[in-house]
Amino acid sequence: MKLNCWEYKRCGRQPGGDRSEELGICPASVEWSLDGAHDGKNAGRVCWVVSGTYCDSLVSGTYASEVNSCDMCDFFQLVRFEEQGDQPAA
Ligand code: SF4
Repeated sequence: MKLNCWEYKRCGRQPGGDRSEELGICPASVEWSLDGAHDGKNAGRVCWVVSGTYCDSLVSGTYASEVNSCDMCDFFQLVRFEEQGDQPAA
């Protein structure tokens, strides 16, 4: 089964997640325009293209800085592996 970032990272910041009220809902989990990308829910499998995500309790800044940090992310690398041959949406 292909996981969404919040399932893999267990951040609890998706709608209904156990940290969503305390810390806010992450934009990646509600970005409906990216629903279905890499078989994910909303931007759950392309979170690196969404600015302002809350990964690792760090508020990411611009798209540029986000891509740099996402390259090192184990979830990003997992999706790239699972979608082998299919470059992550940039
Ligand atoms: S981008 Fe990070 S903080 Fe946002 S839903 Fe995905 S794992 Fe959670």
